[in-house]
Amino acid sequence: MEHIAIIGSGFCGTALAIQLLRNARGPLRLSLINRSGRLARGLAYGTRSASHILNVPAERMSLFPDQPSDFLDFARRQMPEAKPGDFLPRRFYGDYLQDRLGHAIAEAAPGVRFSSLCQHVLELSEHGDHLRLLLDDGQPLESRKVIIATGNFAPATPSPLKTLEHDPRYLRDPWTPGALEAIPAGASVLLLGTGLTMYDMALALQDQGHQGPLQALSRRALLPQAHRDNASHPRLPELPASFLGEMGLNQRLRKLRTLIRQAAQDGHDWRDLIAALRPVTPQLWQALDDTERGRFLRHLQPYWDVHRHRAAPPVAQRIRDLRESGQLSVQAGRVMAATTAPDGIALQIQRRGASQATTQRFDFLINCTGPCTNLRTVREPLLCGLLKRGVIHQDTQGLGLDTDADYRLLDAQGVAHPNLHLLSPMLRARHWEATAVPELRGHAARLAQLLLA
Ligand SMILES: Cc1cc2nc3c(=O)[nH]c(=O)nc-3n(C[C@H](O)[C@H](O)[C@H](O)COP(=O)(O)OP(=O)(O)OC[C@H]3O[C@@H](n4cnc5c(N)ncnc54)[C@H](O)[C@@H]3O)c2cc1C
Repeated sequence: MEHIAIIGSGFCGTALAIQLLRNARGPLRLSLINRSGRLARGLAYGTRSASHILNVPAERMSLFPDQPSDFLDFARRQMPEAKPGDFLPRRFYGDYLQDRLGHAIAEAAPGVRFSSLCQHVLELSEHGDHLRLLLDDGQPLESRKVIIATGNFAPATPSPLKTLEHDPRYLRDPWTPGALEAIPAGASVLLLGTGLTMYDMALALQDQGHQGPLQALSRRALLPQAHRDNASHPRLPELPASFLGEMGLNQRLRKLRTLIRQAAQDGHDWRDLIAALRPVTPQLWQALDDTERGRFLRHLQPYWDVHRHRAAPPVAQRIRDLRESGQLSVQAGRVMAATTAPDGIALQIQRRGASQATTQRFDFLINCTGPCTNLRTVREPLLCGLLKRGVIHQDTQGLGLDTDADYRLLDAQGVAHPNLHLLSPMLRARHWEATAVPELRGHAARLAQLLLA
């Protein structure tokens, strides 16, 4: 019997399992392995905070590309007044994933056997035409096909902060459950990074009654833009074919600005243009050579990120309120050095435009720099082992892993492994846009088709 093992049951692993269970006509054995017992949650939807809300409207969060209203229909069973443009709690989205996984298991065709394992996969090796997984209970699990769906990695410690690595007042991974509980209400806190992770942390601190000053710091102090308060999905402008033609990065940027100005005259918001770009982003990314990709990442990515990864309107409003109250300040600058002292963490901060660094003291520092994509610095035994043996290969820009068009992982020589696949935001190396549900669900559906073919 064909055996498929999926490592990781966050959004990607769960979406793929559901697609396989729905479409397999049997016989098939499917194993879904997750290191924590909580299936169908992962980092994003495992939060228990009601303040952590989806940054994509309900009407675009369906698990299924061919059933766009599925999440909204699910939501309306519990919240009859839910609207397509609503931004609902992320933990509720986790309930949805769990529900759909439960249904898919119950309704799978005869001959389709599903099992879930609460295990950390430590190693993967080849044995004939099978792959052998080493689980943390010491047991092996053999499978012909394996999908790596292990998600994002915790933020890396920036080099000037290495001195803080053993200081409990430095929170390297803000997603560690209960991490913020150690912070007393009156403490001064530096939030390093000014993206959506910083927003989540500032709101979580506010929810636990934090009164002390919060300072957010990043090189440019760019903040995520807000989604507009849209009651329903806007009509998207058409991108002219000429925009998709061959051209350099600067020329495309100029053209995009012109298109945004023109679209504004037709009553469109700049956000509609960014949304219209989304389906063709992988095509544009793949047309860039390595040098242009490097230039994009150095100069444009911070601007792309704040326009593309926007905050839900209520979240953006709460952040504005926190700033207006004076509790949260946002600064542009860089941490140059850090030392730990009995009365706090002393940071040498060079403000943008200043010629010298000044010292500032904080009680706590939360690393909000976002997921680490450089796998050379990640301490994850499974991927480290595979990288070391050259079975998988990191892309030259350090964004993720190299894959072919069929999600097969490429080795150090660029050869695709016939039975080892990737489904995770690490697909950004090939697609760039592989972060959120609207893209990842499409990848899950296509990969399921390929695996069942
Ligand atoms: C905080 C946050 C909020 C987001 N909000 C939204 C949003 O509102 N809308 C949207 O569209 N997108 C959002 N995203 C983006 C997107 O939905 C997620 O990145 C997506 O959920 C990724 O899913 P994943 O399965 O790849 O990773 P994860 O959800 O992180 O799941 C990976 C799973 O694999 C397990 N695992 C890892 N290694 C192993 C191993 N070796 N053995 C066994 N198990 C292992 C982990 O325990 C985890 O459960 C958000 C992302 C984050 C981080």
